[in-house]
Amino acid sequence: MRYVIIGAGVAGISAVEAIRSVDNTGEIVMISDDPNGYYSRPGLAYYLTGEIHDTALFPRNKADFQKLNFNFLRGRVTHILRKDHALIIDGKSRLAYDKLLIAVGARALPLEIPGSNVEGIVKLDHLVDAKNIVKMAKWGRSAVVVGGGITALELTEGLRARGMKVHYLLRGDRYWSNVLDKYESEVVEKRLEEEGVILHHHSELKEIFSKRGHVSEVELQDGKKIKCDMLAFAVGIRPCLELIQDTGLATDRGILVNEHLQTTDPDIFSAGDVAQAFDPLTGKSILDSLWDPAREQGRVAGLNMAGRRTAYLKSAAFNVTRLAGLTTTIIGVVGRGRDEDMIGIARGDSETWRELPEAIVAQSGFDINHMRLLIGDSHLVGAILMGDQTLSWPLQKMIASKADISPIRERLMEPNAKIADLIAQFWMSWRKQTAL
Ligand SMILES: Cc1cc2nc3c(=O)[nH]c(=O)nc-3n(C[C@H](O)[C@H](O)[C@H](O)COP(=O)(O)OP(=O)(O)OC[C@H]3O[C@@H](n4cnc5c(N)ncnc54)[C@H](O)[C@@H]3O)c2cc1C
Repeated sequence: MRYVIIGAGVAGISAVEAIRSVDNTGEIVMISDDPNGYYSRPGLAYYLTGEIHDTALFPRNKADFQKLNFNFLRGRVTHILRKDHALIIDGKSRLAYDKLLIAVGARALPLEIPGSNVEGIVKLDHLVDAKNIVKMAKWGRSAVVVGGGITALELTEGLRARGMKVHYLLRGDRYWSNVLDKYESEVVEKRLEEEGVILHHHSELKEIFSKRGHVSEVELQDGKKIKCDMLAFAVGIRPCLELIQDTGLATDRGILVNEHLQTTDPDIFSAGDVAQAFDPLTGKSILDSLWDPAREQGRVAGLNMAGRRTAYLKSAAFNVTRLAGLTTTIIGVVGRGRDEDMIGIARGDSETWRELPEAIVAQSGFDINHMRLLIGDSHLVGAILMGDQTLSWPLQKMIASKADISPIRERLMEPNAKIADLIAQFWMSWRKQTAL
């Protein structure tokens, strides 16, 4: 049996581990075109600010990989020949497979603005991008950032930390309006301003100007011009579907897979940012761009490839991240609608975050310690915690398990309710009952 895995991200690595956990003899071949192999993509933000060295981005060493006993090929898969059960690598060499995993991730949507084909326009997808930004920031003085969600903020803060003057352009009247509420956006924006970031609301790029092939200035729709040595963009990501275009595999926004992470071809599986996974509980197929779901999908895909029928059970999507230096956990469903700054889903984001049903909001705390709960009929549907993270794990568990919060529901909704205390007390008793 030969298992072939395209992509050395967390989904691909997890699949290798899962296959090896049940099949000691099958041959595993992994192919990736990233010269840096497997590393922490969320960690790129901390590398950009200079908080960590690039060596800290690699969670595994050579010995870990040797234990897994697989062959690694550096190259780009250019075709999948389904009828022949084979791949073409770099347009020339051929490799046969019995079971195939497509875990090729997603990539940044391009910036489609006149003049954008010049040097100095950057995105943050890979370690090579981050290194390129760090290099450019050494001599650059002023940067413009456009986009929304977590990555745009990571770019803003990274460039600021590298000493650049940063202009952050927002199309709407506030940051990440379909996930954060007005107050939370204000907290983030205030902190950015304190860090020295110059915010421009209701601002949209019109044209990019260059000197000697390098970005030098941008013009906004209202005619305002900003001089800059760098333009960083994060307007959304798109699953990498080019590889499967001629294969006849079913796609929607990503590669459609069933709850076993199997595509419409029983010998081809898909996992991670490129996969649009079916959720049997809601009957919907969802895109996530989150590390944990990618890891879990890779694990489940690997088990199924090795013949262990296992279902992928989607948990409430969560992310622990940092927004303007403030640790923030986002769990379950917290927002609604569209963010003007994004064309598609962002990095570190889930489509499920914005499908808010009728829910009542309870919130407490000010400025750096803030909590917002979305309360459904009998359970919590979502939560945002900024600052103090004591209740992050309890809330993740209770939201994922749909804990029945009826005993405290009315009290949570009372004006000036001490919601953190109520949740903490409820967690203690719920935890005992569920033996967590
Ligand atoms: C800057 C940044 C910040 C993020 N922040 C967060 C966060 O705060 N929280 C969170 O949960 N998630 C975050 N994410 C998202 C998270 O990192 C991804 O969800 C996760 O890495 C997806 O893993 P994957 O294995 O599906 O894909 P990837 O990690 O994208 O790996 C795909 C692999 O496929 C390879 N590949 C692609 N096409 C081919 C081809 N044709 N042939 C060969 N190889 C190919 C690529 O080189 C790569 O090795 C962030 C990501 C980035 C980039």
